[in-house]
Amino acid sequence: MDTEAIKRSFGGSGLRCTPQRYAVMAFLMQHNRHPTAAEISEAVNRLNPRSSRATTYNNLRDLVEAGLVREVAVEGRAARFDARSMRHHHFICDRCGKVEDIEWYDVPRPASCSLGKRILREYELIFRGLCTKCAPRHASG
Ligand SMILES: [Zn+2]
Ligand SMILES: [Zn+2]
Repeated sequence: MDTEAIKRSFGGSGLRCTPQRYAVMAFLMQHNRHPTAAEISEAVNRLNPRSSRATTYNNLRDLVEAGLVREVAVEGRAARFDARSMRHHHFICDRCGKVEDIEWYDVPRPASCSLGKRILREYELIFRGLCTKCAPRHASG
């Protein structure tokens, strides 16, 4: 994991590199399994200097707003967070709520007439279904 890369990305986004904010970003870069805010907060609180839950949540929000972290909204469940800088789509399991990355492939962007005056920042596909663990096994197994 590249300390300088994190510091540079903060600098480029106008974010101050506080130890707590750094810890949130470093955790997300090391854990690409889409942790929830509660999981991030719990992990970061074990580090020094300690970071309150509120501080962690605020830092997460700042990172999302700066575009360094993506928030993956999962209906009916806690949002999950993702620091992968590479573009990718997501697969969300209906049963266990697991969020998996799907390798990026180009999808046509919406026609400008359907966007109207909206300004498109980014777009991705969300696939829904059953993950390999939740999918029923075939009898022949
Ligand atoms: Zn599943
Ligand atoms: Zn992801």
